[in-house]
Amino acid sequence: MPSIAVLGTGVMGAPMARNLARAGHEVRAWNRTIDKAAPLRDDGVDVRDDPADAAAGADVVMTMLADADAVLSVAEGARLAAGQIWWQASTIGLAGTERCDEVAGATGAILVDAPVLGTRQPAEQGALVVLASGPDDALATCEPFFGAVGSKTLRLGPAGVGTRLKLAVNTWVLAVTGGTAETIALAQALGIDPARVFEALEGGPLDLPYFRVKAQLMLDDEFPTSFALSLAAKDARLVGEAADRSGANLALVRSVAEQMRRAQESGLGDEDMAAVYRVATPG
Ligand code: NAP
Repeated sequence: MPSIAVLGTGVMGAPMARNLARAGHEVRAWNRTIDKAAPLRDDGVDVRDDPADAAAGADVVMTMLADADAVLSVAEGARLAAGQIWWQASTIGLAGTERCDEVAGATGAILVDAPVLGTRQPAEQGALVVLASGPDDALATCEPFFGAVGSKTLRLGPAGVGTRLKLAVNTWVLAVTGGTAETIALAQALGIDPARVFEALEGGPLDLPYFRVKAQLMLDDEFPTSFALSLAAKDARLVGEAADRSGANLALVRSVAEQMRRAQESGLGDEDMAAVYRVATPG
């Protein structure tokens, strides 16, 4: 049975490692702040204090880290071996994925570009959607791992396609989050009870569960992190870069990116992305 090393045990990586171990796989893990990885030992994960130690001999090395710079520096520290499969699961955009491809080319590792859809709760429930791209043999080896963390895997073709689809879907996530913030903020500013907004949309095609979850955080004005605003701002920038390259004219997501940049500047970067609501409210 193939073994896997999980590098990065944050909001997403920790439950993914836990679900991999619970599915019976041999799992090693490493995290820069080792205290965050240590509790995984209770689930049978072999926690190591060095990325190279975690990765050595593993059939598959998964990176689930904040951004492209973190991924590349950890991949270097992991000393990926020729023939080793590198499941890159973080959201790092087009340029980041190209840089990973270069590292894979230089080391002989096989890049599987397979970012995921879903946030904290789906990660805990093993219900992510895996956007898998890479060589067929490597995807076949990863299949049991994808099944342990997700409820659905899309096989998309060569490495790079997964990231492109992730950027397209994230455009929707950012649009809904930004739209939810502005809908709630405007209703309140106009003296409309937001409960009336829910009532008006109830049962119709625009009554999204995601809208309700994020709107509730905004109404409570409390933002426990499922997806950190700083990472959402990073994703908005990555979508903007993809638009620049492709020629798509994305005014909406650029505006959400700007709101998120302002929210981050106001010190909201570690809150959930729903905290972008704060910059939409009057004053
Ligand atoms: P997170 O909880 O903030 O975890 C980030 C991880 O990156 C931590 O392990 C952190 O280590 C590590 N890290 C950051 N900078 C580093 C560096 N310079 N060197 C080494 N390690 C570094 O983030 P997350 O929510 O798990 O997200 C991880 C990735 O998945 C991101 O690319 C995100 O965009 C993507 N994603 C997130 C979600 C979501 O809903 N949360 C959904 C889909 C995809 P420390 O613990 O030491 O800080």
